[in-house]
Amino acid sequence: MSFVCRVLGVGDAFTALYSNASLVLEGDGTRLLVDAPPALNRALRALPGERLSLDDVDHVFISHLHGDHVGGLEQLLFWRRFVTRRLCTIHATPEVLRDLWATRLRGGMEKLLQGTGETLELSLDDYAHVVPLVPGENRIGALALEWRATIHHVPTAAIRVRSGAKMLGYSADTSFDRGLIEWLAASDLFFHETNYGVHTPLEALVALPQNLKARMRLIHYPDEHDPASSPIACAREGERIEL
Ligand SMILES: [Zn+2]
Repeated sequence: MSFVCRVLGVGDAFTALYSNASLVLEGDGTRLLVDAPPALNRALRALPGERLSLDDVDHVFISHLHGDHVGGLEQLLFWRRFVTRRLCTIHATPEVLRDLWATRLRGGMEKLLQGTGETLELSLDDYAHVVPLVPGENRIGALALEWRATIHHVPTAAIRVRSGAKMLGYSADTSFDRGLIEWLAASDLFFHETNYGVHTPLEALVALPQNLKARMRLIHYPDEHDPASSPIACAREGERIEL
């Protein structure tokens, strides 16, 4: 039994320092990309340790449709459809999938110019296996994934992912939500966002009881947030965590 988390990106939507918040989870032979930041292949390449590329991502979970979480999906899908011809699988809630093609991908991916000069029309199913998440446990190879809606502008899902006896959580984007944090805190380790505006203020997390903060790592933090002096431990890009 093994469960490894590689921190692909820690930044927010406006970061000039990092890749956008995203993780690579590896459990017993199953690899799951958690959110797809723009310039995905470059982010994968930058990970220390075993080298990863677009061909190594067979499963991707998309938490919601903001560009910093979904902007790398087009690159992944184009590569897998046209270059290596091995489709990957997209896992997301029905609410996210409802708009993924129509509002994020269709404009650049629907029409394909053929050598004959004719135009072919493609749909999301031509690019990927699409699996809507159900309530409760979802099996993704060796991993088991549960999700919970967060408080955000658009439908967004936080997740807990289990491999064997170990569990990891990820808040995705959310306003402060004590119930969500308690749900995530059942994990051995969980990543929680913090940022400005409708996001979770750092002070709200700092004020939590120690048992809820003990296994928390900050992610999606603003560039100005200094990990070295952070009151709660920060996820660091390129970090490899063995659960
Ligand atoms: Zn968002």
